[in-house]
Amino acid sequence: MRLDYDLLTPGRICFGWGRREEVGRLAAALGRRAFLVCGSRTLASSGVIDEIERLLGQEGVQTVLLNSISREPEVNDVDRTVELLRKQNAGEGDLLLAVGGGSAIDLAKAVAALATNHQGSSVLDFLEGVGRGLKIEASPLPMLAMPTTAGTGSEATKNAVISSYDPPFKKSLRSERMLPDVVLVDPELSVSVPPEITAQTGMDAITQLIESYISCRAQPVPQALCLQGLELALPAITAAVTDGSSRTAREQMSHAALISGLALANSGLGMAHGVAASLGVHAKVPHGLACAVMLPVALRVNRFHCEPQLVALGCRCLGFTEGLTDANEIIDAFIDYVTDITAQVGIPHRLRDIGVEPHQLADIVQSSRGNSMSGNPRELSDDELHEILEDLL
Ligand code: NAD
Repeated sequence: MRLDYDLLTPGRICFGWGRREEVGRLAAALGRRAFLVCGSRTLASSGVIDEIERLLGQEGVQTVLLNSISREPEVNDVDRTVELLRKQNAGEGDLLLAVGGGSAIDLAKAVAALATNHQGSSVLDFLEGVGRGLKIEASPLPMLAMPTTAGTGSEATKNAVISSYDPPFKKSLRSERMLPDVVLVDPELSVSVPPEITAQTGMDAITQLIESYISCRAQPVPQALCLQGLELALPAITAAVTDGSSRTAREQMSHAALISGLALANSGLGMAHGVAASLGVHAKVPHGLACAVMLPVALRVNRFHCEPQLVALGCRCLGFTEGLTDANEIIDAFIDYVTDITAQVGIPHRLRDIGVEPHQLADIVQSSRGNSMSGNPRELSDDELHEILEDLL
């Protein structure tokens, strides 16, 4: 292993059950006025947002509800929210506070960045692959992220994923400056996530842990963390789906999701995520569900291109000892294990089960060529990818 790397992380990570109580103190270190992006109606109606506002107030931080979003953010969402922020003369002494899943955190990250970078007229100008290639040059407004799903790890990444349906694309605004300043993970906030979303978001985290581990850009520190994340998450996801109130299962999933974000920010991803972005815009498949459907096939497609990594995952997660069991047997067992878990948590096997139509395949292949795909261990031609997706229909 060549040891030569950079490691990007958020400024500070605070993790623990009930630790949302510390939000006032943590926010006060970043500013006096917090612009809140809320990502869950359930959390708002259960009083959690009021509680956070009260905790901020106790530390002299004023809360301004900037926006609420319970679906994946689009170009217009970002542009409109930036406009709202500008109307409030946001600047020195202000911070963004995101309380929600990846959608709310991404919206807040994009808005924090555009609030201080005025060189474009829309977030579109900054998006990878589709925009004018403008860069985030000024530091964004300070950002505090509180994830409430255990999935994307967006709280620990340097990008915000923004969608458009006409024209169809799902692309990132990306800059090392966009890593949140403070991350506060309180797994108790994920208890209200319903089973279906627990399964989908949790499979996103598991896919990120596996894809970043086998990525051709994999880095040693995230790889070490991914082993722990997967060892915890693979058994915990079923427990979290079956009993959402299980503290242990929620803690393990939130921890694994955070690690998956740290890992993807440093190591990249692979084919499942490349295709998932495309399924999101062409067939409106939620991100986690798309990743989950693609994960077993991505493992089968890549297996001969990352054997040592898959053996290491099999040994850690299933207790094999390298050298004592045949490598192929370990890899088969690991792929079967992941596939079984996917089925146990209710993820369909086929693309047609998640609304994909045969005529959409060509477009899906074309839009799968983003940043994620570049980390895939096996290089795939368009024809090969088309064939793989056709078999999965
Ligand atoms: P989400 O944020 O869209 O949330 C899914 C649903 O769960 C929403 O309806 C939301 O309102 C609800 N919800 C959230 N928290 C809840 C709670 N505590 N109780 C009840 N309901 C709750 O889903 P997500 O999977 O977390 O985020 C998906 C988005 O994140 C996609 O746009 C995806 O592309 C993006 N993403 C970003 C990164 C990154 O690094 N920036 C990485 C992976 C995915």
